[in-house]
Amino acid sequence: MKLVVVGGVAAGLSAASRARRLDPAAEILVLEKGSRISWGACGLPYLIEGQVSSMDELVVYPREFFEKERNIRIRTQAEVTAVRHGARELILANGERIPYDRLVWAAGARPAHRPHSERVFHLHSDTDGERLNGFLERERPRTAAVVGGGYIGLETATALRARGLMVRLFHDATTLLNREDAWLTQRVVERLEQCGVEVRLNEPADPDRVEADVVIDATGLRPNVEILAEAGAALGRTGALAVDEYQETSLRGVFAAGDCCEARHIVSGRAVWIPLGTTANRMGRVAGANAAGRRERFPGVAGTSIVRVAGLGVGVTGLSQQQARREGFSPVEAVIEARERARYFFGRRLAVQLVADRTSGRLLGGAALGDQGVLARIDTLAAALAARMTVEDLAGLDLAYAPPYSTVMDPLLVAAQQLLRML
Ligand code: FAD
Repeated sequence: MKLVVVGGVAAGLSAASRARRLDPAAEILVLEKGSRISWGACGLPYLIEGQVSSMDELVVYPREFFEKERNIRIRTQAEVTAVRHGARELILANGERIPYDRLVWAAGARPAHRPHSERVFHLHSDTDGERLNGFLERERPRTAAVVGGGYIGLETATALRARGLMVRLFHDATTLLNREDAWLTQRVVERLEQCGVEVRLNEPADPDRVEADVVIDATGLRPNVEILAEAGAALGRTGALAVDEYQETSLRGVFAAGDCCEARHIVSGRAVWIPLGTTANRMGRVAGANAAGRRERFPGVAGTSIVRVAGLGVGVTGLSQQQARREGFSPVEAVIEARERARYFFGRRLAVQLVADRTSGRLLGGAALGDQGVLARIDTLAAALAARMTVEDLAGLDLAYAPPYSTVMDPLLVAAQQLLRML
């Protein structure tokens, strides 16, 4: 069996590795148009901040690992320009034809707009990170504008501020982080302003025109779907590739995974496009297994994510109250504040928000804001959403406690009890 994987990062390499484990005899080839594989874009803001000293530190596994240990062929600077599914072959930019029996499309996403000016940067690819870092070192800009209030914009604003620049953040909506949540936005804005970032909400800015020595265009992404769509693969309602629960596209034998495709939201049941590295890895494993002949299901996403904004941890999962209302639920929300661990262990404040459906009591989503304790709470809540728990189920959970780690009544349980009273 000849398996070809397009894209040599999170989804593509997870797929190739899983397929290899399940089918030791398969011929597996990964095609990557860039010159680097297996690197983590999640570390780019920390390259800008200075925590990471070079792009090489962001490489997860070296190329030799895949070639020698996993017997996976890797070709870099190999850009696929067309898929001829009838003939089961791919065409590369140099005209070469590559045959396949099964295909995994893991081509990711790209920034939605191309910058026109030399001082405007994206922070998406490995070369973006190197270019921006080079510019900062060479030109020593004093002022920066970040356009876009998603997590990449917020992380980059924080990183530039930590590097000593005066930073202004422009966002075209009144709420940040694609969450439609005034409470959460207010907390994040407070923190950004405390660390010296000027925040302009509801103020769309054109990255090419905004005044600053350096501009980061973080206005959004588009899935890389065109080549496969031209070959006949169906797109979903979000514009990303439509896949079934086995990660198979509408073309038989062609699977897709990662930022290029949609997923089913486990709370709303709808197809959504929430591109994240966690999802790309999980989807890639399923696509790789099924390309190797298995029938594994991808369980879906809750949009669980965590981001550090000027030292504030912000974790979200499931739906906000506004999103839940739009999905036809009748949501009710509780927000509490508690210490994340005992005072004598320097426990900082942790805010927890829970959203549930008034009619059924089912948990729909929530958020946690604070320090290190955010991760445990948001992950527990993500697990509760996957198990379709009610608020009562959550309030009855047996969670761990010792003074260095938590409080005897965990903040998540405090929030659940408050919500129970409201219900
Ligand atoms: P990609 O990583 O985009 O890889 C796709 C690859 O396909 C690319 O290397 C591309 O060159 C190649 N390709 C595209 N077209 C072709 C073609 N025609 N021929 C050959 N090759 C092609 N996610 C998190 O979960 N947590 C985080 O903290 C986080 N932080 C992030 C911070 C930043 C600054 C960025 C940019 C992203 C962050 N992400 C984070 C998102 C995460 O990096 C992506 O979701 C993940 O990389 C997606 O993996 P992928 O394999 O689907 O796509």
